[in-house]
Parts: sequence; structure tokens; C-alpha cells
Amino acid sequence: MSVDSTGSERIIIVGGVAGGASAAARARRLNEAARIVVFERDAYISFANCGLPYYLGGEIEDRASLLVASPQLFAERFRIDVRVRHEVQAIDRAAKTVRVVDLETGAAFDEPYDKLILSPGAAPIRPALPGVDAAGVFVLRNMEDMDHIAAAIPKATRAVVIGAGYIGLEVAEQFRHRGLAVTVVEREPWVLPFLDREMAEPVQRELEAQGIALELGQGFSAIDTEGERAQAVVLPDGRRIPADLVILGVGVSANVSLAREAGLEIGATGGITVNAAMRTADPDIYAVGDAVEYLFGPTGERARVPLAGIANRTGRLAGQHAATGSAPRAPAAWATSIVRVFGRSAGATGLSLRRAAAAGIDARAVHVVGYHHASYYPGAEIMAIKLVYAPGTGKVLGAQAVGGAGIDKRLDVIATTLHFGGTVHDLVELDLAYAPPFGSAKDPIHMAAFAAQNELAGLSPQVQPDADLSSYQVVDVRSPEEISATALAEAPHAHAIPLPDLRDRLGELDPARPTVLSCRTGLRSYVGLRILAQYGFADVHNLSGGAAMRDFALNRGVAGAPTDLPKPEHLGDPDDPD
Ligand code: FAD
Repeated sequence: MSVDSTGSERIIIVGGVAGGASAAARARRLNEAARIVVFERDAYISFANCGLPYYLGGEIEDRASLLVASPQLFAERFRIDVRVRHEVQAIDRAAKTVRVVDLETGAAFDEPYDKLILSPGAAPIRPALPGVDAAGVFVLRNMEDMDHIAAAIPKATRAVVIGAGYIGLEVAEQFRHRGLAVTVVEREPWVLPFLDREMAEPVQRELEAQGIALELGQGFSAIDTEGERAQAVVLPDGRRIPADLVILGVGVSANVSLAREAGLEIGATGGITVNAAMRTADPDIYAVGDAVEYLFGPTGERARVPLAGIANRTGRLAGQHAATGSAPRAPAAWATSIVRVFGRSAGATGLSLRRAAAAGIDARAVHVVGYHHASYYPGAEIMAIKLVYAPGTGKVLGAQAVGGAGIDKRLDVIATTLHFGGTVHDLVELDLAYAPPFGSAKDPIHMAAFAAQNELAGLSPQVQPDADLSSYQVVDVRSPEEISATALAEAPHAHAIPLPDLRDRLGELDPARPTVLSCRTGLRSYVGLRILAQYGFADVHNLSGGAAMRDFALNRGVAGAPTDLPKPEHLGDPDDPD
């Protein structure tokens, strides 16, 4: 390990927030002698990016609470030299120096390093369209952005949020809390496009219920201005949505210019290429966080995962490696994420069915609807889980969840299973904590895994909620009241045979025809499927997630369609009062 004249290794870190601050602190804890310098071009280090939206709406009242650590704390606790308002503008790999500019004075200087850790993050994308740089158009990445938006809110009555990803929706919610009229514009046909449609739809309906207007499926073409100030967002179909305040939340691009100009490799996804030690091709330069491309677990390919958890953890690994010469290998990324939108929460880990299809990966999925704890214990909240897995092996590929309380726990259990390469059979076997205020004897995780296991065993072949049912014999086993309240979407030919009558009315059905059974959420139809299969019906399927998920998947949005997650069903097992 090279050292300076004092005998200390010199570790330079570019970027002082999630990945950079973690790297610096870890390096110090493992190497007391190193000289550690963090250069941060903004005025703050170690602030809570993820908390910024909540300050805008007043949920977080104390701005200072977002400043998790200060340069002074880093100096006193860690003897780390943090220099804010200092931008690293170039890396000289041969000389092993970085060129730094003090943004306050304009003074430039070279700083030598033995190890260099890049955590420069990502920049919000500003599409090259007319008006995007006008006054009144904002992005949200740092404290300064947040302050600008906060200052603009009192003067605004109408806001347009462009981009219905998690940041866009968090901001939209906070704007509603501040009394603004809000429109969300999204290029994809549904909000939170990292989710499959039926899992995003309950969030969409929640947004509409909260008075947020949605413009989906066409993006925007310009921002109209008057006197350099944004006046309206123009949609590709020509309509204008008046706005005093526009937020661009259409994604981020990795900050790679420093690395690129230093000759470091940039991968096909636009992130810096690193190995499992978070090292670039130059063994003395590491890169972490939003600026890099990670190994994406479900596909084995490289992917950008601009999320805080992996940035912090890879920063820690790089800090350790730089400080000691070794560290555990960086794990694969699973892109586990979650968002709360008013009374709804939604999240995902690993592959969605849509992303699996795009990657050419053969995947299956089941849907279940359940309560976050025992139904009879007060306060049970409904959730839907979609479990995605590989045919044959049953290896878990991903999951999505939407609901209220408790979806975080289910996503985290599945993320854990993904990390360990587990299967749906492993999920069936998990011994999860249970008492009525916390869960169910058969947790929604178990129910999803049972459904997947049954599908794999051929006991319950599934069709997906958006399947074309026109060629199937469809049997709707709900009660007449349920059916008259909400007909099964796009299945006018469905036979309405309530489950208790099914055995007595088999004669109305053709056992030779491919048949799909449906109910409210897919549980009673599974029971019906088992009846038909044992009475000689050769080709029977369950509509995964039932009429409710079908309605969400087809986005009917017609009068009488459910506006919320359906009430869960239960099998009636004596050991499972839920
Ligand atoms: P950053 O934390 O962005 O830090 C990079 C720093 O490098 C910046 O401060 C930048 O000024 C500095 N820098 C860049 N170039 C230079 C240079 N040349 N010289 C000096 N300094 C430089 N993730 C989640 O998992 N969950 C969430 O709920 C969540 N919410 C979010 C909400 C918002 C509003 C935002 C903006 C992000 C959110 N994220 C969330 C994403 C998360 O914040 C990022 O993934 C994470 O901060 C990335 O860490 P990083 O170290 O790579 O980059």
C-alpha cells in the first residue's frame, strides 16, 4: 500500500452524501492512520435525500433534521477532512492526483491520492424540450433544490409533476398536503412503471381519490412560458395543463463525466463499470452508488439501481477495501424499493413479470390478497402480493406488493430469499413470527408461496389477470350479489355458478373445454378448480388474483368497478381462522 511522507495512506472521496459519507466513515473506523479527504461540491454532506419530499409538505418540519451529519462532526468524530463547495474536476491517473476547484474562491489545486473513491451520484434528467429550463421548473435532488421548491410553493396554486416514479408521486402527495391542484404526467400507461400494471393500479386509484389528476401514456412535449416563466405543460396531443410550478421527475443519469474523462470504462447502461470490490479497471479507483452499474441479481446482467441502500452499503465496502486492501465482495442488487402514496404503499424487489419478459426470462407469477395481520384482530389492513418465480425450479425472481401496513415486511422477506437464491418452496417453509397483532398463521407470504407451489405441481395452473378469456369456458364462482356489483371484466360469456353450487351444476359445463375459474381474489376459484379437476375437467386454470386483479390489470375504470383492494377471502381451514 502506498503512503505519503507521513506514512499515511491518502484516501480521497468524491461526493459526500450516501455512498461517499459511508465510505469515509468506514475507512476511518478501519484505518486510523489514513489521511481521508472528502470533496463535496454542494454546501452539505450526508443529508437525507430520501427525506426531501416530506419537508415540502410539512411532514418533516425541521429542515435541520435532514442534515444527518456535518463537516464538523466528521472532523471531530472521525478526523476526516470534509471540504464542501469543492468540486473535483479531473483525475490524473498517472500522477495520482485530482484537480479540485474551490467553488467559493475559484482557486484550483491538485490533491494527491493513493486510493480514490468516486460517489458522485446522479443528476435528474432534463429532457431536451422547449421550456424545461424556464423559471418555475424544478428538479429535486439536493437541499438547494428543496429550498427553491419550498420557496415557490406559497406563490403557486397549480403544480404539474412530470414523472410518476416514486419521487414524483411523493412530491405530488406533499403538494396536495400544501393545498395545490396537482396533475401528474407520465409517459408510461400507468404510474410507478417499475410495477406491473395491476399492482400499480390501486396506487393510481388512490391518487385520483385524493384529487390528483393523471395524464398517462404520452409524456410531454414542451413547457409553455411567458416572460421566461413556466405557464403550462404541453402534452403531445396538444392539450395545455396550466402550471405555476413544474417538477421534473423523469429519472436520473449517472454522473460519469469525471470517470469517463479519466479513461475509466462506462458500461452499456451508462454507469461506471466496477468489479465485485467496487473497483474500476484502475485498481486504485473505486466507484459506488448511483454513478455505477451493479450486477443485477435476477438477470445476471449489469443494471443501474439508483437507490440509497445499495449506495450506502457499497460505499462502506469501498471504504473498507481502500482502507485495508480487502473487503467482502459486493452483493448483487435486487432493486428493492417501496413508496407511500397517501394511504397506499407499494413496492417491489427483483423482477416484475414485465421486466422478465423484456429480458427474455421465462417467468410465472401468482397473486394473493391477504391481511397484514389476523383479520379478526382490530386494524387489519389489506395487501396484494405478486410473486414472480421460475418455472421448473421455482426459484424466486421477484415480488411486488401493494396495500397498507406490512408490505415492507413481506417485500423484505422476499428480498432476503432472493439474496440467498431461494425458491417458492423455501418461502413455504419459512417459520415467520406470528401472533394476531403481527401476522397470520399462514402469512400472505406463505399464501403466495402455496399458490406458486400448487401451480408448479400442476394442481392449480394459472392464467394472468390480463389474459384474453374469450376462447375459454369461464366459470365465475362468486355469489350473485358480488357478480352483480362487479362483473368479471371482459368476460361476458362467464358462467355464474357460486362455489357452493358447483358440484351440483357440473352438467352446465363442458369438461373437454379449456376452462378458467374466477372469484374475487383467486382463492375460492382455486377450490373450484380442484373440484373440476377431480371431476374429470382436463384443462382447468385459475385466474390469478381473481376479478379484482383483472379489473386492475385491464384498468377498466368503469362505474361500479372496485376503487380499492378487495377484501381477502379465506379457505376456512380450522387452523387458519383468517
Ligand atoms: P448522492 O447521495 O447523490 O451523492 C453524490 C454527491 O456527489 C452529491 O452531493 C454531489 O453534489 C456530489 N458530487 C458529484 N460530483 C462531484 C464532483 N465532481 N466533485 C465533488 N462532489 C461531487 N433511495 C431509496 O432507496 N429510497 C428512497 O426513499 C429514496 N428517496 C429519494 C428521494 C429523493 C428526493 C432523491 C433525490 C433520492 C432518493 N433516493 C431514494 C435515492 C438515493 O438518495 C440515492 O440512490 C443515493 O443518494 C445515491 O447515493 P450516491 O452517493 O451515489 O449519490
